[in-house]
Amino acid sequence: MWRADVITIFPEMFPGPLGASLAGKARANGLWDLAATDLRDFATDRHRSVDDTPAGGGPGMVLRADVLARAIDAIAPEHDARPRLLTSPRGKPLTQARVQELAAGPGVVIVCGRFEGVDERVIAGRNLEEVSIGDYVLSGGELAALVLIDACVRLLPGVMGKQASGAEESFSDGLLEYPHYTRPQLFEGRDIPSVLVSGDHGRVAAWRRAEAERLTRERRPDLWATYITRMADAQVPVLPPKKATDG
Ligand code: SAH
Repeated sequence: MWRADVITIFPEMFPGPLGASLAGKARANGLWDLAATDLRDFATDRHRSVDDTPAGGGPGMVLRADVLARAIDAIAPEHDARPRLLTSPRGKPLTQARVQELAAGPGVVIVCGRFEGVDERVIAGRNLEEVSIGDYVLSGGELAALVLIDACVRLLPGVMGKQASGAEESFSDGLLEYPHYTRPQLFEGRDIPSVLVSGDHGRVAAWRRAEAERLTRERRPDLWATYITRMADAQVPVLPPKKATDG
């Protein structure tokens, strides 16, 4: 079973939102599991302290290498095949491709940073892979861990049915997803695009592809650049280049 272990000073934040909806149901049905371990259980002093002042001075506190290493060794001993992740704004940005890899594996062990971060020596000593969920700073790694686990769990077999099969979702093809519509046919003067109610599956597919390409080109030049390079290599035609008048 796919299993997530989280090391945190706020175990009460788990499962949090992952206890509800599809993820919660899937966990109740034994499709995956989650355990949060309190880092303070691995402290050795009376006050159960896990942090100390930064070497070299400066503001804030740093999670101690020795306490964190003990926790990691207890939760994920050496033979545990799961990747050991550390939430960190310095990490490699999380992508759908990495999420797919993680979901296809045995699970994850996630260390949640707090304060100014963690002692660098435990990152090296326990081979932690730093993962960021975006270029902004959270107050702790717990929300990042929830985000990462949510993205993985919805891809596990049986959790979402066909919806998350991935073929048509944002990023799966290097494109953002096309727009969706449902009833009513007319909403505040806006119609559902006629092609979508034409019953012509070929035209629907072509329209969706063109819309996905348009949205990606307009909103995510970074993804678009990668996409057109890939399509050019595969000799697949894409939308004509953006005109100056397109806004
Ligand atoms: N001093 C650090 C920020 C610490 S924020 C710096 O400037 O880089 C406290 C903790 O929140 C971090 O250790 C990390 O675990 C988590 N965190 C903050 N932003 C994050 C992000 N974008 N992605 C993943 N984890 C993040």
